[in-house]
Amino acid sequence: MNAQILDGKALNKKIAKDLTKQFRGLTPKPKLVIIQVGNNAESNAYIGRKIKFGTKIGAEVEHKKFPEDTGQEEVLNFISTQNTNPKVHGIITQLPFPKQLNKDRIIEFINPTKDVDGLTSKNIKKLWENKQDAIIPATTKGIISLLEHYRIQITRKKVVVIGRSSLVGKPTAIAMINRDATVTVVHKSTKNFKQELEQADIIITAAGKPNLIRKFHVHPHQVVIDVGINVIEKSLESRDQSSEKPAEEPPKRKLVGDVNFAEVSQIVAAISPVPGGCGPMTVASLFQNLLQAYKNQIK
Ligand code: NAD
Repeated sequence: MNAQILDGKALNKKIAKDLTKQFRGLTPKPKLVIIQVGNNAESNAYIGRKIKFGTKIGAEVEHKKFPEDTGQEEVLNFISTQNTNPKVHGIITQLPFPKQLNKDRIIEFINPTKDVDGLTSKNIKKLWENKQDAIIPATTKGIISLLEHYRIQITRKKVVVIGRSSLVGKPTAIAMINRDATVTVVHKSTKNFKQELEQADIIITAAGKPNLIRKFHVHPHQVVIDVGINVIEKSLESRDQSSEKPAEEPPKRKLVGDVNFAEVSQIVAAISPVPGGCGPMTVASLFQNLLQAYKNQIK
């Protein structure tokens, strides 16, 4: 492997240490409320990681889990009580929500000073306008921290962001422009995908498509940030034939990003792995946002 590994897991630990020190002695304790509707298995796993990290650093984390068939008004009523509760400093929604709910309306209902995901229009506008006190969506903030930690220059670099979602692609593109990068956003309707990537110094991919980036997409000087999280089945051929496992055992599942790591890590200058790259950075950044929101509220 030629590439430097941008180790989000290690940086997550470093941030955890730093936050533990900062959270120590804070009264009341910074508190995050996580709202989930339904029982999505991936959401359960993400929430579990947030609770674990938050508890480790000394935050209070409440997980409010509504049943799948919960109506809009019930969720809004709950948010309303959290919005005005002085013991609550951060509120996030764990998406996806079931179809009967209007997620945009629910997110917008969160008190912007407690919006630690940075998704309300007031916070998005601050990011748009490059205001110092903008709460940057956690995944985007994590990408920036990872690049900065490894002293990868953003200013004057050409950044190609793959994906244009409100959650990852768009805020990441804006944050990169704010840091004086020249940014191109590509998506599933982009015509000359490969040519666009050729121009990049930094490729940030958030498409949710395994194997989207292969060896013929990259060059040696490039830095690749893989935000994608995809669960794939390990092929049956790759399993140990000599093992005694019963034939009916379900196929093993594996977490991969958008990048073919084995190929691309042979070529590029630096790469974030999946798992162990952007995922742990998102969790750590969320609690940095909680501290920022807390300080704004306890003055
Ligand atoms: P999304 O489905 O809302 O958006 C995906 C974007 O990728 C779309 O804009 C689409 O146009 C683009 N896209 C899809 N296929 C493409 C293709 N073949 N070529 C080019 N562009 C393509 O997803 P999202 O919420 O933005 O999440 C993207 C990925 O990032 C998912 O895998 C998600 O699980 C992951 N994610 C990771 C973290 C983390 O902490 N690491 C956080 C959030 C999301």
